[in-house]
Amino acid sequence: MRIEKYLVLCGIASRKKIKKYISEGLVSINEIQIFDDSLDIDPEKDIVLYNNNPVKLKELKYYIFYKIAGYITAMEDEKFPTVADLLPEYVDKNSVFPVGRLDKDTEGLLIFTNDGDLNYKLTHPDKKVEKKYFVKLDRPISLEDIKMLESGVTLDTNYKALPGKVEQIDETSIYLTITEGKFHQVKKMIKAIKNKVIYLKRVEFANLTLKDLKPGEIREIKREEIEI
Ligand code: URA
Repeated sequence: MRIEKYLVLCGIASRKKIKKYISEGLVSINEIQIFDDSLDIDPEKDIVLYNNNPVKLKELKYYIFYKIAGYITAMEDEKFPTVADLLPEYVDKNSVFPVGRLDKDTEGLLIFTNDGDLNYKLTHPDKKVEKKYFVKLDRPISLEDIKMLESGVTLDTNYKALPGKVEQIDETSIYLTITEGKFHQVKKMIKAIKNKVIYLKRVEFANLTLKDLKPGEIREIKREEIEI
């Protein structure tokens, strides 16, 4: 098997990143540093190190989780409770990680996986994967505000956000679909229209939805269920 494919299957990273890591000399086969990503290895016999750590083929896992408020999106933290605290025993916390992040006070759909390649495909800005949020606003939203969100508002960081898609639910709530994931992106987009988010929940990520999951619940899914 090609070394590059092997490292993808081990969940180390995406194909593109692995090519980079190999070119940087971070990979060795049987104690020989390599720089050529087209080399073949025998997964049964050869000893492959990435960053001086042995890599092994592992079972790739995928979960959909309904995050609740009050937990930060990290596997460990010194100050705050993390989403890892909410995971059941059968989820291997040493292997999986959350894809992207939701703020401490944000609820909704979070994907956990140990597949570095999927993580890249879902989070890289060039891939423009859709994320849909239910947003409860402090004050009524106007048609003018919706037009602004849909043509791309400028955030307080001076970054011009890509156009979002808005579906109005009532005077003070909308669904907002975006394809980026800047820090506090939705909150900042809403701030740009001089309003404020008072409740935020991610309801869709790529083609995945929360379906019948209840707050705090997790469900294992198959890779094929994620259309990317
Ligand atoms: N945008 C935000 O502002 N917060 C989130 O948690 C997710 C998107």
